[in-house]
Amino acid sequence: MLVPSKILLDHALQNKYCVGAFNVNNMEQIQGIMQAAKETLSPVIIQASRGALKYSKMIYLQKLMEAAALDNPEIPIAMHLDHGNSFETVKQAVALNFTSVMIDGSLDESGKIPNTYEQNVAITKQVVGYCHPLGITVEGELGTLGGIEDGVGSGKVQLTDPDQAVKFVEETGVDSLAVAVGTSHGAYKFKVAPKLALDIVKAIHEKLPNLALVMHGSSSVPKELVDIVNQYGGQMPNAQGVPLEQIQSVIPHGVAKVNVDTDSRICMTGAVRKYLAENPGKFDPRDYLKPAREALAQMIAVRMKAFLTAGHALEIKQINLAAAKKFYV
Ligand SMILES: [Zn+2]
Repeated sequence: MLVPSKILLDHALQNKYCVGAFNVNNMEQIQGIMQAAKETLSPVIIQASRGALKYSKMIYLQKLMEAAALDNPEIPIAMHLDHGNSFETVKQAVALNFTSVMIDGSLDESGKIPNTYEQNVAITKQVVGYCHPLGITVEGELGTLGGIEDGVGSGKVQLTDPDQAVKFVEETGVDSLAVAVGTSHGAYKFKVAPKLALDIVKAIHEKLPNLALVMHGSSSVPKELVDIVNQYGGQMPNAQGVPLEQIQSVIPHGVAKVNVDTDSRICMTGAVRKYLAENPGKFDPRDYLKPAREALAQMIAVRMKAFLTAGHALEIKQINLAAAKKFYV
C-alpha cells in the first residue's frame, strides 16, 4: 500500500539498510520496479520529477503509481516527488496524493542557481509546515551536487557542511536530508570513478544519528549496460557512475535512501536497441517494451539486494497518511 516514506526510512535507518528510490515516467518502468520489489520483498520508493509529471500529464502517472499499490498490497510503497522546486509544485504533488515530497531549496525555482542558506531554510520550512499536518514526509537538500538531470543542477559542487546540517534540520524540521558527498546527477558526471566523502557522511550521521540521509545521483552506470547501448547503435562514450561498492560503504552511516534514475534509462534503452536491432521487422511497441521492462526488473533487483533492502518489506507496519499525522504532534 502507499505509505509515507518516513516509515520506510526510519526502518531502514534502524536496520542499517537503504531503500532504493527509483524514478518513473511510464507504466513499464513502474511495473519493472514493482516486479523487482515483489520478487525481493523490498520496500520501495517510486518517485516522479517535475519532468515526469509533465511528460505523463500528471494524472496518468498518479493513477499508475496508485495501481502499483493496489497490485502489490504487501509491499510498502512511498509515492515521492523528486526535486520539488517550489511551494506550488509541492501543493500539486499533495493534490495528486503523493505521500512524500522533496523540496530542493538548495537551488532556486529554476533549478539552476544555488539559493542562499536562508532562502533554503525559508522554503523548506514552508513546505514542512504544509506537509506535516497531512502526514506527508519531507526531504530537504543541503549542499549542491554536480551534474545535471531533468534540467536540475547548477553545475557547482558544494559538499554538505555537517554543522550546518544540524542547524538546517533544527530550523526546518525535515524528515530526511539529501546531502552532497561526492555523487552527481546524470551519466557523464565523472571522468574517473568517484570516491565518496565518507568522512562527511560519518560526521553528519554522528551529529544526527536519527536522521535519514539521502544520496542523489547514485546511478552506477554499469559498463555492461552502457556496452549494450553502444553495441546496438548507441553513442554513450565515457559514461561513468558511482560504483555499487561505494554506495554500499555509506549504508552503515545513516544513508537510508539512494536515488537511481540514469541506470534505469540506460538499461531500458539498451534492451530496446538490442531487440530492434535483432528483430528489424517488429513494430509492435509491446514487442520491445516487454524485454525493456524485464531488463529493468533485473537491474533493480540487483540494486535492492546490494542496498540490503531485500527481505524487509513484510517487517514494516504499513500506515497511511492519516495515521502518520501522529509523528508530528
Ligand atoms: Zn537528485
